[in-house]
Amino acid sequence: MAIKILLVEDNETQLKFLEEGLVQCGFEVETAQNGSEAYRKLYSTAPDIVVSDIVMPAIDGYQLCRIIKNVDETKKIPVILLTILDNKIDSFWGKKAGAQLFLSKLIDINELATNINATVRRYPITDEYKNALIQKDGADNSAQFRLNFILNDLLMKSTFSNEFRNLSDFLNYERILVEKMFSLLSSFVEYHVAGIYFASPDDFAENILYIDTLGRNLPKSLLSDVNYDFFRKMEEHKTMKTSKFEVVRMLLGKELECEFGDLTSKIIIPLIFDKKLIGGICFYTRQEIDYSSFRYFDIMISELLAIFKMKYQYTEKEFMSVLDGLTGLYNRRQLEISLEQEFNRTKRHPSDFSLAILDIDFFKKVNDNYGHQYGDYVLKTVADLMKQAFRKTDLLYRYGGEELVMIMPETNIEGATIPVQRLRRMVEEYNFDYNGVKAKVTVSIGLTMNYPIFNSSADLLKSADEALYKAKESGRNRVILHE
Ligand code: GH3
Ligand code: MG
Ligand code: MG
Repeated sequence: MAIKILLVEDNETQLKFLEEGLVQCGFEVETAQNGSEAYRKLYSTAPDIVVSDIVMPAIDGYQLCRIIKNVDETKKIPVILLTILDNKIDSFWGKKAGAQLFLSKLIDINELATNINATVRRYPITDEYKNALIQKDGADNSAQFRLNFILNDLLMKSTFSNEFRNLSDFLNYERILVEKMFSLLSSFVEYHVAGIYFASPDDFAENILYIDTLGRNLPKSLLSDVNYDFFRKMEEHKTMKTSKFEVVRMLLGKELECEFGDLTSKIIIPLIFDKKLIGGICFYTRQEIDYSSFRYFDIMISELLAIFKMKYQYTEKEFMSVLDGLTGLYNRRQLEISLEQEFNRTKRHPSDFSLAILDIDFFKKVNDNYGHQYGDYVLKTVADLMKQAFRKTDLLYRYGGEELVMIMPETNIEGATIPVQRLRRMVEEYNFDYNGVKAKVTVSIGLTMNYPIFNSSADLLKSADEALYKAKESGRNRVILHE
């Protein structure tokens, strides 16, 4: 059977010329003089290939191609675009529109025929596909309607992409990133509870589900059920030692009577990249909603995946490196490694070492009042003061967000108190000034040493943490020793 071509060309002379040439080459040729007509004929004639001019009034060749490639029942039909344009950008658009081939209008007719034959051989259309197309009768969906739909979709996609892309400015501020994400997601997804989780390449990192309740005050038990439900799903992809949740964006505090069972609709989406779980997201709502049928879900997920991927890679980079980027101190992983070494060494060859954890007081307020850049400045300055306050042989680390750790080898707790108190005083007396904005800041410190009762380096760290907690509880700006 002869190959059936749908030839689209608005110029009558050129159409005649091409039609005759192609018929002579042995093709069966159907013709259309504009995009709309072509779209209708696609259904009535079910061709093997579409050969279309690009520049046409109303619906042009690019658009016709986009329509064809966007609809399941027509998208397999190969499209060749003919043009007198030969700019790179034109062929770019042609390819983006989904065209298989892009040829010059000035091409010799025999060469065109060769290209058509080759394209049809490469993208053969089955009789079954053709019959289904003829039975569909796309006339009820006019080309203009289809086009508008596709354009809206594209616009929606690019708007989405832009919105999500803006989030990448906050990769190193997890809390802020999370807040921005919730504010974006809540603008187009219905939910009562939403959750965001970033997996870490560090197996010892805490698994935190950030939760948004749109400002409603929901019972803690419900949130903890959500947390459990969510991580049970995540565990299909990664084993979790522990998990906890943290509520962000709970601003209005309106009570809402609700139990976990009332959340009738939900969706939990694990985000996977390179076969690794890099995070997850979930929505729960009391309404009857079929989340999976939500029209823009696919776009949303692919955009989320891009952000989560960047976030994961950022965390991975931090994790793999030795120094913390902001403060220049050793990072958490280094702390875990050296603390373990120091602990084991002093078990074998008894000697003292002390460890202190520092946490900046009311740091959230610093961020809230002056912005997170100011917060970063304060953190960096405290780290610098720390470098001045301690001996060269002492080891300094950034443990968490605004928590710094000092290991003092060959030093018992009494000896350690001196530089630790010195640091506390230095911070208290320091006049923070960033771009003329002045502030006073204090720190609380928990101090411990390698008492024989500790069985592991984790015990020791925990005791420093407990001392720090007491320092906070008893009024801040102080050093508390493990008892
Ligand atoms: P407290 O006196 O009880 O410690 O109060 P706090 O506000 O300091 O409370 P907490 O220690 O729990 O809060 C830590 C906050 O520090 C959370 C986060 O917003 C902020 N933070 C953590 N890491 C960074 C960072 O790298 N830069 C900035 N600017 N802020 C950070
Ligand atoms: Mg803290
Ligand atoms: Mg703090």
